[in-house]
Amino acid sequence: MTVQPSKSVTSIDEIDPDAPIFDPAAFRLNGEQAAIIATARELGQRVFAGRAAAYDREAKFPTENYRDLHRAGLLGIAIPKQHGGLGADYQTYALAAAEIGRYCGATALTWNMHVCSTLWSGPLADDLEMDDATRAEHERRRAVHYRRIVADGAIYSQPFSEGGAAAAGGVAFGTEAKPIKGGWLVNGKKIFASLSGHADYYGVLCTEIAEGEKASRRNTLYLAIPAKTAGVSVVGDWDPLGMRGTVSRTLLFKDVFVAEDAALMPRGVYFQAAMRWPHMFLTLSPTYVGLAQAAYDFTVRYLRGEVPGTPPVKRRMYPTKQIAVAQMQIKLEQIKAIWFQAVSEARANPTKEQVLRAYAAQYSAMEGANELSTLAIRTCGGQAMLKSLPLERIYRDSRCGSLMLPWTAELCLDRIGREALYATGETDD
Ligand SMILES: Cc1cc2nc3c(=O)[nH]c(=O)nc-3n(C[C@H](O)[C@H](O)[C@H](O)COP(=O)(O)OP(=O)(O)OC[C@H]3O[C@@H](n4cnc5c(N)ncnc54)[C@H](O)[C@@H]3O)c2cc1C
Repeated sequence: MTVQPSKSVTSIDEIDPDAPIFDPAAFRLNGEQAAIIATARELGQRVFAGRAAAYDREAKFPTENYRDLHRAGLLGIAIPKQHGGLGADYQTYALAAAEIGRYCGATALTWNMHVCSTLWSGPLADDLEMDDATRAEHERRRAVHYRRIVADGAIYSQPFSEGGAAAAGGVAFGTEAKPIKGGWLVNGKKIFASLSGHADYYGVLCTEIAEGEKASRRNTLYLAIPAKTAGVSVVGDWDPLGMRGTVSRTLLFKDVFVAEDAALMPRGVYFQAAMRWPHMFLTLSPTYVGLAQAAYDFTVRYLRGEVPGTPPVKRRMYPTKQIAVAQMQIKLEQIKAIWFQAVSEARANPTKEQVLRAYAAQYSAMEGANELSTLAIRTCGGQAMLKSLPLERIYRDSRCGSLMLPWTAELCLDRIGREALYATGETDD
């Protein structure tokens, strides 16, 4: 399949630039942040938006978009500047990812898996405890990953789901890494592995376990396994409701030798991160903030009779439409406000209030994006949900947000309710 720009766009110069989701002045972003986020928005609007329908239709990985992300420096968005990256912090990355999600959900979601390999091993790991020797070794190892990404455009994925309780954080990962001379032998299976068959490195979460030892979450390893290593295979098909371009098939690891230097985090550091840097799991949400904005943008343009490829019929004069748009705008601002606060205060050792807010922000973005697109379809009407327009794809993509472990909508509700009512260690006995 050849991916072509949308027929409705004759020249990219004819597109009026969209306003940023988060206006830099209103949200007090500095010039450097605003520039990175603008790069993401412009690439999304001018290039990715036109390709999104074809990736979705064919459930095809957005390879062309990844070449453009590399050219724009965005594969290395969270890589420190001294290693050739853009040096973005957590907040800047999140805001840029929302802009990409606005135009292509599957690109934003998979880009998140890629960026997390550098965000978690980078600024986030810098906040965690390591002795000097371990930190020096980590610095040397991550420089190798940085080089691959910046120079060669290498793509990383992040398969941790296994179909059991591990991805929700309940038990140790069932994928096991047995220590052997010079590295590990990895065996296991990952389901819903976005970018499978397309990433150059699979950033696999697994449990280091020596002969006769019991599996423990404390011994979680985060290993970048080269996709072409003997024993790695991609199986199963991929024909889902939404986020079709993520190509989240099943990965199998059978006696895969992984060298010590493949560790994206030193021993014990992933566990420490999961305990002390919980916002690491909020990074799936920016895509859906972008989709929420996209549903709203579409509705306003459609009711004004301004969506390219549709007759210039205005529907904005009906009071019911105006009320629906008002409800959408209120919902969108609520999502943006709580989410902006949560991504702005992400750090090591957050307070209980900040953690509860992070869950609430995740829930608001994931459920809210779908609520907005549901309302958009009802308000715009039948002609607006045809496959020739982006709204029905936004609707399907947005439905997938609540399902993302470890912070699914249900689990966010569970945690907020429990943690609001019980102090750590408190019981009713
Ligand atoms: C488009 C898409 C892309 C994805 N990409 C990736 C990826 O790149 N990497 C990756 O690792 N995963 C990925 N996932 C997987 C995702 O994070 C989940 O792991 C997956 O959707 C879980 O599906 P399941 O049916 O096995 O869920 P189940 O484990 O059966 O859970 C079903 C629901 O039950 C609830 N639940 C689960 N565990 C508990 C618990 N302990 N207590 C209470 N309630 C619980 C949750 O709300 C969950 O949604 C992707 C999923 C989708 C839809």
